[in-house]
Amino acid sequence: MTIHQNFIAGEWTSGGDAAKDINPSDLADTVGEYARASVKDAEAAIAAAKAAGPAWARSTPQARYDVLMKIGTEILARKDELGRLLSREEGKPLADGIGEVTRAGQIFTFFAGEAVRLSGEKLASTRPGIDVEITREPMGVVAMITPWNFPMAIPAWKVAPALAYGNTVVIKPADLVPGCAWALADIISRAGLPAGVFNLVMGRGSVVGDTLLTHRDVAAISFTGSVATGRKVAAAAVGAAVMKKVQLEMGGKNPLVVLDDADLAIAVECAANGAFYQTGQRCTASSRLIVTNGIHDRFVDALTEKMKTLVVDDALKAGTTVGPVVDQSQLDQDMKYIAIGKDEGAKLHWGGERLNRDKQGFYLQPALFTEVTNQMRIAREEIFGPVATVIRVKDYEEAKAVANDTEFGLSAGICTTSLKYASDFKRNAEAGMVMVNLPIAGVDYHVPFGGRKGSSYGSREQGRYAVEFYTTVKTAYTLP
Ligand code: NAD
Repeated sequence: MTIHQNFIAGEWTSGGDAAKDINPSDLADTVGEYARASVKDAEAAIAAAKAAGPAWARSTPQARYDVLMKIGTEILARKDELGRLLSREEGKPLADGIGEVTRAGQIFTFFAGEAVRLSGEKLASTRPGIDVEITREPMGVVAMITPWNFPMAIPAWKVAPALAYGNTVVIKPADLVPGCAWALADIISRAGLPAGVFNLVMGRGSVVGDTLLTHRDVAAISFTGSVATGRKVAAAAVGAAVMKKVQLEMGGKNPLVVLDDADLAIAVECAANGAFYQTGQRCTASSRLIVTNGIHDRFVDALTEKMKTLVVDDALKAGTTVGPVVDQSQLDQDMKYIAIGKDEGAKLHWGGERLNRDKQGFYLQPALFTEVTNQMRIAREEIFGPVATVIRVKDYEEAKAVANDTEFGLSAGICTTSLKYASDFKRNAEAGMVMVNLPIAGVDYHVPFGGRKGSSYGSREQGRYAVEFYTTVKTAYTLP
């Protein structure tokens, strides 16, 4: 099998060793073999990005537009094929794989436009005869570390703004899913970028992580992943000899409030989608369902009926609505939390069984816990699997308090037909994103994405707000 190589200084280069990328729907299927970078590779990538920096920083907005548009156009033209690769590698159903690839293409075309729209300010000085100009400049070399659950969209939403604003890039995708990042790098490698502007180093964070996080020539680090790794990233980046600008997008334990006056069908759809689609492996998954007394039993019954209709099977099979868990260790984690929930005294109302299918894969029936309190571990810790907890509350005020009683703050949702409660929740939910009568996992690409409290650190990603992270501001004074 050919080994897919790292991309450093405009060349495909063989790394130290390689690893197999296995399809979680079919463990007999190897998606490909991918190089794993060494410390030397990471250093070479940083050196190439540094050398390419000044010329790319001075490139015209039109040149950046052309490159980004070319990348986005190819991604969109190949969305079915790339979506298939994504679903085969990560395990989300094909429609979701194609949807994610489409989003990645749209992100590149969006940031093509942003490259030509970058602006500054010119102000009068408080002193006579002086001009003041505020301009935005690229940060320099940006290192990116990404997780496995959105293997195409997350690299896209970091790489596109970085290039649009004149930075150079070293990206390390999750070692579990190098295929999508490699396919993206392949497209980028043919888009007309000067050598060294974009570099891909695949492999393990434990091997190249320190180099990317502490190297003096890396100016900024954009990380998405778990809280535990995020803390290490922040400590290393700030403790480095040259301190880095850092952006962290991490976990969630997102609440979905369902009030007595909710439209039951909408609430059930929001809950099933938010908690179980994409196998619950979304940072925005709504794993805490906070339900008022009057609708609680009807909601639980209707959600259970809905769960019985979910088809857990091969991600590439027509009709599958929930694909496999991504790998053995995530499956172990899901099963561990199902056992913890039972031990804590919650009732496993439905599901939670390991499933066998035609092919050997990591299949798990979505699980619904009832009689859960917000103090239980299954209600406080991110499981990152298809496991939802129902917490019964007496009224809206209690629901709001429980929703905010968490260390996380990525997204929060409410299902209600009351304008009063919807408005109050939008104002008071301690989260970066709030949804009313919508699944809390769906977001647009042209607006900011991110959270607060333990979920996020640093400025927002995506949309026009990405400029905050990928540029630094200069204030210039002139006496003409
Ligand atoms: P993870 O933290 O295990 O890994 C993320 C990345 O960090 C991987 O590329 C990994 O190789 C790398 N890494 C690991 N150790 C490292 C080290 N010591 N130094 C540098 N890099 C290191 O996370 P994961 O399991 O890939 O992804 C799941 C997590 O990501 C969940 O917690 C989920 O909520 C979160 N996530 C958050 C968002 C968001 O935008 N908030 C989006 C998607 C996923």
